[in-house]
Amino acid sequence: MELPTKAASSLESRALGMALGHAVGDAFGATREFAEPDPTFSHTEIVGGGTFGWRAGQPTDDTDLAMIVLRSMPSRTEFDLKAMRSLLIEWHECEPIDIGVTIRQAIVRLKRGAALGGDPETHSEANGSLMRVAGLSLLDLPWMPPFLKILEDQTRLTHGHENCVLADRILISGLRAGLRGGDRKEVIRAMRLSAHGNKWPFDISGVATLSWDQLPTTGWVCDTLHAAFWSIVNCRSFEEAMVKLAARGGDADTTCAVAGALFGSFSGVDNLPTRWLNVIEAKEEIEHLVESLLR
Ligand SMILES: [Mg+2]
Repeated sequence: MELPTKAASSLESRALGMALGHAVGDAFGATREFAEPDPTFSHTEIVGGGTFGWRAGQPTDDTDLAMIVLRSMPSRTEFDLKAMRSLLIEWHECEPIDIGVTIRQAIVRLKRGAALGGDPETHSEANGSLMRVAGLSLLDLPWMPPFLKILEDQTRLTHGHENCVLADRILISGLRAGLRGGDRKEVIRAMRLSAHGNKWPFDISGVATLSWDQLPTTGWVCDTLHAAFWSIVNCRSFEEAMVKLAARGGDADTTCAVAGALFGSFSGVDNLPTRWLNVIEAKEEIEHLVESLLR
């Protein structure tokens, strides 16, 4: 299915597209997490399995954490960092099947009473914040210091490295462009401008020119952002992006989740594949969270 040339008509459709596109990407890519690149990969359904033996449509940490961010937003103008800390601790106590090293260490520090923003991991450049941040694009705040502080606080709660802060900011720039009615080209442009304006220390436009077999898809935050950006530049449909990114393996659930949020933000939920949406176990909960925020 080709993407619509016009953006989705309503904010609700785009917001649901962003949040559910993320969850679909997570579930689709989970099958291929940690796998080697496979140019013959061509699944057309969400089948689960993978390293952790997921049920088809089961949320992995990407969806769990993205819902924690949504639950930490009392409204479209507020973000509650303390609530997020409590939700992270609660999640950790449920012993999630898949949890990143940086996140786990950060939550243990928070459990031991680390001050918010006081002791973030500054060495790790893992993608644990980028995999969950998408919901903050729904905040209806101007791109000014109070909003940037919310973004940065959210990142630094677990990931203190500057590249993690900047990657989250560049992704949110793209998602906001989509949510505001932009089309694919406008989302690409917003991310390019954000990378330039924020002095992103890598050539994001150059990455988009890589061939599929050169594309890195590790859990390094820069690779994840670049892979998602590559997919919106090079793929003409949500399905094509999911299949190409999952085929690359590596941190496939996260690259597919971040790319899925980007595609959904401009195409809207009505243009996501129904057969994929229908197997997402957290679908109703995500719909409820997004609709409550928009109400
Ligand atoms: Mg995951």
